Amino acid sequence: MSKKVISEKKIAVCPGSFDPITYGHLDIIRRARHVFDEVYIAVLNNSNKKGLFTIDERLSLIEQSLDGDMDGIFVESFQGLLVDYCKQVDAHVIVRGLRAVSDFEYEMQLTSMNKALAPNIDTFYIQARNEYSFVSSSVVKDVVKHGGQASDFVPDIVANALSQKFNQ
Ligand code: ADP
Repeated sequence: MSKKVISEKKIAVCPGSFDPITYGHLDIIRRARHVFDEVYIAVLNNSNKKGLFTIDERLSLIEQSLDGDMDGIFVESFQGLLVDYCKQVDAHVIVRGLRAVSDFEYEMQLTSMNKALAPNIDTFYIQARNEYSFVSSSVVKDVVKHGGQASDFVPDIVANALSQKFNQ
């Protein structure tokens, strides 16, 4: 009996705002990379939602945070429908991080819509590590804005970029 050789690369997309990237995001990206041959970190460029950092700044902070550990990891921005971006990079899986039950309702809605739009694309959830389960870009921004330390939650390069933004 001949064995079928499956040589297709397994490609996943980790989408998000990444405004800015945190250790929570980085943990999900690395764990996704353990499972998939290629992981695309896809920063949503949404003209209706202005972030603290520009898209180029976010991409650069992500690349610097990966600190050279970029084998099989690609950092890009996208506009429009996530499922269209997935098709563009030939990904069949979307990876999302789940921090708490409160994330779940929103994620379920997104997953169902994406499934309706593109039945061949699946969403996998990775549970946040306990130590990052309360970390979000928005809370970290608030901490730094009010003079708190962010170095337990984001790489130094991101903590410095945040301090600069709020001291401008
Ligand atoms: P979005 O605006 O799409 O939620 P985010 O940048 O906030 O974009 O998050 C991108 C993804 O990373 C989401 O799946 C989110 O649940 C996940 N995520 C964010 N923070 C953490 C964290 N601390 N631990 C695990 N996953 C996280």
